Amino acid sequence: MTNDQLLDRRNFYINGAWVAPTIANDFLVIDPSTEDACAVISLGDEADTNAAVAAAKAAFPSWSVTSKEDRIALLEKFLDVYKSRSDEMAQAISMEMGAPMSLASTGQVGAGAGHTKSIIRALKAFEFERPLGPHAPDNTILYEPIGVAALITPWNWPMNQVALKVVPALGVGCTMVLKPSEVAPLSSALFAEMMDEAGFPPGVFNLVNGDGPGVGSQLSGHPDVDMVSFTGSTRAGVAITKNAADSVKRVALELGGKGANIIFADADEKAVVRGVRQCFNNSGQSCNAPTRMLVERSRYDEAVATAQEVAEKTAVDIAAKEGRHIGPVVSELQWDKIQALIARGEEEGARLLAGGTGRPEGLDAGYFVKPTVFADVTPDMTISREEIFGPVLSMTPFDTEEEAVALANDTAYGLANYVQTTDRERARRVARQLRSGVVEMNGLPRGAGAPFGGYGQSGNGREGGEWGIEEFLEVKVVSGWNSAE
Ligand code: NAD
Repeated sequence: MTNDQLLDRRNFYINGAWVAPTIANDFLVIDPSTEDACAVISLGDEADTNAAVAAAKAAFPSWSVTSKEDRIALLEKFLDVYKSRSDEMAQAISMEMGAPMSLASTGQVGAGAGHTKSIIRALKAFEFERPLGPHAPDNTILYEPIGVAALITPWNWPMNQVALKVVPALGVGCTMVLKPSEVAPLSSALFAEMMDEAGFPPGVFNLVNGDGPGVGSQLSGHPDVDMVSFTGSTRAGVAITKNAADSVKRVALELGGKGANIIFADADEKAVVRGVRQCFNNSGQSCNAPTRMLVERSRYDEAVATAQEVAEKTAVDIAAKEGRHIGPVVSELQWDKIQALIARGEEEGARLLAGGTGRPEGLDAGYFVKPTVFADVTPDMTISREEIFGPVLSMTPFDTEEEAVALANDTAYGLANYVQTTDRERARRVARQLRSGVVEMNGLPRGAGAPFGGYGQSGNGREGGEWGIEEFLEVKVVSGWNSAE
């Protein structure tokens, strides 16, 4: 197949129109289930980045002073369009990053709609103008959009992350340039079509494709970009922060994780099965995956046997098929990295219970990884420290609550931790001590509009709800608000 026969997504969305790149620079999108190219995009050049930033800058003065009600009305229109095209969106996500259709059409597409809905709700309640307090009746606080935002997103939950950035940025009156992952750009192209269909004014939302060293760095260093909101690896988050420093822009980071799942002896019966499945969900490609299962010693052997059984029963298959299987991982690069980490686990002496290196039987092409479980993992091992981003679980026994908390916190990351116990006092005590932005207990999910973000090397931002709105705002105090007639 030549590039001309592939799905053509070479154009960028700038100033309300689809425009060709200034310099042709084709980049193939690979379907991870087959390793075949499925689409072609362009990697942008500096001139494309500049055009998108200029459009966003020009649109800011008028967009930033629109009423909250008008912006919400457009977001609600967008949500209707998004819902009406959800099948297309599921297919795009499934093809670009390998989520099985059943996951793509529920969790993946649903996350985009769910966040849009809950951010609209938070916007309705948000007071952009409020008094400082009864002690200073003449002082008013104004929340104002920060300006032009660069939004840089990863490939693993594409619409989840795009919605968590674009919707609050639009809602508060920012204008923006979205640069989605070059590995999974198809869902964002569709998203841009939906923005267009919803009728946002030209220049308010722009999309340029590109890679990190190209468009990504051009955006983070751009003098006319006021803020970067980034989700991705800690490595790229550090690079962005350094590059943004000269222009003193705000940088909001949502980075990697190495979540612990503490299973106490009194945990409910399904805790282990639930934990393994959660680790393998989306083929292990979630920043908040509970990848380190810590089990109280009296239940450890039983947990190890259960985890092995769940892993062996976890089916792996191509993304286009319906079903409860897991799909491939996203790319050859990720596949190679995961294989090397599994091999490292074996070399460093962890006990391999299920899975291991190589492809699952019967799957000779595609970036498929065997659902893998290691037992007797010690905290110094590489697989216990590094984010693997594949279906790989590490299991470690513990003896006391103090030890469990210390093990959980013994990481550079701090995004999400999990606690399983039927003792409420202990649950709360442990939750308070965990150094992470999220603690999920006993399989109960976070509510809509909850803040999501991390401590330490998991980043410094919070997305979702009012916290996600505040990220895109400047705060201004005005004294003497009532002083003039
Ligand atoms: P990545 O960091 O390689 O890429 C993410 C995005 O950043 C892409 O758009 C990429 O082009 C861009 N990029 C890369 N280098 C850049 C640079 N120097 N300057 C500017 N932009 C650059 O990450 P990935 O492989 O796409 O995604 C996986 C990572 O994302 C994992 O570490 C995962 O934990 C993390 N993640 C975090 C969250 C969260 O909310 N905390 C959510 C999902 C994924």
